[in-house]
Amino acid sequence: MTDTTLDTDADYDALVVGGGVAGLTAATFLARADLATLVVDGDESILRRNAHLENVPGFPAGVNPRLFADMLREQAERNGAETRTELVEGVTGEAGSFTAAVNDGAAVTAARVVAASWSDLDYLDGLGVEARDAGSKRYAEEHALGRTSVDGVYAAGRIAERYHQAVVAAGHGAEAAITLLHDAEVPFYHDWVVPEGYFTDRGREVPPGCEEITAAERERRAAESRETMRAYFDGEHPDRQRTHPSLVDDDLGRVDDEWYDDGGGGGTVDGDD
Ligand SMILES: Cc1cc2nc3c(=O)[nH]c(=O)nc-3n(C[C@H](O)[C@H](O)[C@H](O)COP(=O)(O)OP(=O)(O)OC[C@H]3O[C@@H](n4cnc5c(N)ncnc54)[C@H](O)[C@@H]3O)c2cc1C
Repeated sequence: MTDTTLDTDADYDALVVGGGVAGLTAATFLARADLATLVVDGDESILRRNAHLENVPGFPAGVNPRLFADMLREQAERNGAETRTELVEGVTGEAGSFTAAVNDGAAVTAARVVAASWSDLDYLDGLGVEARDAGSKRYAEEHALGRTSVDGVYAAGRIAERYHQAVVAAGHGAEAAITLLHDAEVPFYHDWVVPEGYFTDRGREVPPGCEEITAAERERRAAESRETMRAYFDGEHPDRQRTHPSLVDDDLGRVDDEWYDDGGGGGTVDGDD
């Protein structure tokens, strides 16, 4: 049994369905607030089809999108989130005790659910989450700051009909997570890391969610950051480029060198986006 922070018998405080940009960002915020957080992800972020990601803040020359996805996942895990590569097939229950059926046959219980599962919302049908149908797409209706029509269920990123941009999905993931923290009455001011004395030298307690660190600890973290980023950017990412699945004869839309040599195309599979 996972050691949960919320007063609940559930395995996890929060289940995040979907580990793309929005879900992994939400998970990072939830785990950093000490919520026992599980991400169940089908490992098919739409971002993997991007050829070079040039508009996410912090990467002046852009970044390989598959590398970026790996980095988001490690960030969530380093902060304490668990991740599983599976699909959620259905969710039942109510706030405090949801049960998710996972396609490996497992049942996971969680006090709260964050849907960040572009482009699948069907697993929430049993809960009656309000949705908007738009052709082949289905979006969760958002009820302010990441909430859905069902108490304890949140929606983040493209599935909540936010703009189809990575940074927007990330921001919305953070927003939905912080809304969840407030709704669950988790003590929280801001998720900030500040230099030693920033609050305490002004006679204030360090607020919940914040951390004061010493100069030595700051240098240790900076060195770890440099080492980690050097390793990430040392060499090419091994995953093949993806494209729209209807363009290549590969369910995952993977493009190989021969495809380029042949001029591309000729596939059989339908897909969105
Ligand atoms: C070709 C292309 C190029 C793009 N280029 C850019 C760009 O240059 N810049 C930019 O800002 N944006 C770009 N985007 C858009 C960007 O990729 C998306 O807006 C962003 O990824 C949305 O994030 P998300 O977390 O909502 O969804 P995703 O990143 O798609 O993540 C959703 C995750 O949920 C999982 N999932 C779905 N259903 C389930 C389920 N039932 N159980 C478990 N997991 C599930 C999926 O497997 C997936 O991993 C591009 C998109 C495409 C298609």
